[in-house]
Amino acid sequence: MAANREGQEENKDRYFKLVHGNQTLLQSEKLYEYILETSVYPREPQCLKEIRELTYKHPLSVMMTSPDEAQFFSMLLKLINAKNTMEIGVFTGYSLLATALAIPDDGKILALDITKEHYEKGLPIIQKAGVAHKIDFREGPALPLLDQLIQDEKYHGTFDFVFVDADKDNYVNYHKRLIELVKVGGVIGYDNTLWGGSVVAPPDADLDEHFLYLRDFVQELNKALAVDPRIEICQISIADGVTLCRRIG
Ligand code: SAH
Ligand code: CA
Repeated sequence: MAANREGQEENKDRYFKLVHGNQTLLQSEKLYEYILETSVYPREPQCLKEIRELTYKHPLSVMMTSPDEAQFFSMLLKLINAKNTMEIGVFTGYSLLATALAIPDDGKILALDITKEHYEKGLPIIQKAGVAHKIDFREGPALPLLDQLIQDEKYHGTFDFVFVDADKDNYVNYHKRLIELVKVGGVIGYDNTLWGGSVVAPPDADLDEHFLYLRDFVQELNKALAVDPRIEICQISIADGVTLCRRIG
């Protein structure tokens, strides 16, 4: 009985850590630190470091994209020569700034967030970095904004890259629209698709109710993406899990 209970506590701790520290799913903190210290931090631009440090003071800092993930996207954006991009879910702007630094000077990011409250904190750093001219920030819920874009044919098939990092219960709805807006050959990246590892948590796992509510949507998204013939996918187990979707013809 005691052992059982202990096991449950251990599991709870493990899920708690995954849930509240979604910077990595690696099981060894030391290994994650090794990656950051060896390959990520020494090459992180000063302005990104500044946004990161400013964001750590925020009570919701766990929402920020992890530095290794931002480094990954920065490389990807350059590999695919991304120029016209979109980000859904800006927060203080860490991934937004990483994108702005990775695309060319005449590149664009349509940045959507339900509130500009947090973006305004990071904005002075983005301005100082000299990349604010690439960003078109729109405040409001993303879904109606995407519907507006869809209504105008001129936006169809125009985005090279879209990063989705907002309300998980809308990801399937976003996907229905984004698949029309991204170019053939373009990429959509869905963040947090392993949801703290909870996609494999037992049905009776003692997890926060809201967290479990969103977990169901993440599982639904993963299933939908896996059978969608309009895309090729790649599930990457960096950070909290990212699913890359490449639109095919
Ligand atoms: N990419 C960011 C983290 C985003 S956190 C970074 O690297 O730091 C998730 C963001 O989604 C929050 O800023 C939240 O305000 C935003 N959000 C939540 N619901 C939304 C909605 N319906 N439409 C647009 N943005 C939303
Ligand atoms: Ca995220």
